[in-house]
Amino acid sequence: MKPAAGSDVALRVTLLGTGTSHGVPAIGCDCAVCHSTDPRDRRSRTSILIQLTETPPKSAFAGAVRNILVDTSTDLRTQALAYDVRRVDAILFTHSHADHVLGLDDVRRYNALQRGAIPCYGDATTLANIRRMFDYIFNPPAVLAGGLPQISPFLIAGAFTLGGATIVPVPIMHGPGTILGFRVGAFAYLTDCSRIPDESWPLLDGVRTLVLDALRDRPHPTHFNVEQALAVVARLAPERSYFTHIAHDLPHAATCARLPPGVELAYDGLVLEC
Ligand SMILES: [Zn+2]
Ligand SMILES: [Zn+2]
Ligand SMILES: [Zn+2]
Repeated sequence: MKPAAGSDVALRVTLLGTGTSHGVPAIGCDCAVCHSTDPRDRRSRTSILIQLTETPPKSAFAGAVRNILVDTSTDLRTQALAYDVRRVDAILFTHSHADHVLGLDDVRRYNALQRGAIPCYGDATTLANIRRMFDYIFNPPAVLAGGLPQISPFLIAGAFTLGGATIVPVPIMHGPGTILGFRVGAFAYLTDCSRIPDESWPLLDGVRTLVLDALRDRPHPTHFNVEQALAVVARLAPERSYFTHIAHDLPHAATCARLPPGVELAYDGLVLEC
């Protein structure tokens, strides 16, 4: 089964962050990658921005959503400044691990610029965890000192439409838990993934650009290593694949040199036209 719609949208995807939860360089680490002078070896916490560059002009409303942020990483503010992200129309959450949500407070700046709440989409576990972790947003103290992020949570219960693009949630395994990857048109983003369940493979049929978790060479219980990620690439056969959520074990240039054609490590600031 192929997703019915959405393959006609044009996307610009910016890899805002491509590092594992500690970030690279890691605090207090003396390894070669943490001391590398190659800017591609500096990896902030994993997040992407999907910009709908051409939405089908079906209605004025269809064009209202242009910038979709995937996760609010710990480094959101730094990433927004580095890549000049001036608008966030919607946020998709993959899951609620700290490295993917702890920048949520930074959306206050977008609330102010855009004069409104931002819709946030996640599965039931993620939304429940966000309500618990950010209790101050949902149960504000009687006496407020400082502003609160304004977000409108929406439960993901299947494919949905944003700005004329069809967002297809792709359930993936992150260790023992199920989290969400996302497919938009011929682009798919699967971070924090250690296994793709049988029923999710058809959702990825026909993907041409893949951004996929590949933590390091050694196996890990909750992330693909490079070998496992390459097996996914071999099965899906996208035109191009980029590995993300990368630990300090993988130097950018040397790792890219040993990857097969069409596969490379992503890096912060990489822009993909899809
Ligand atoms: Zn993560
Ligand atoms: Zn290191
Ligand atoms: Zn995670």
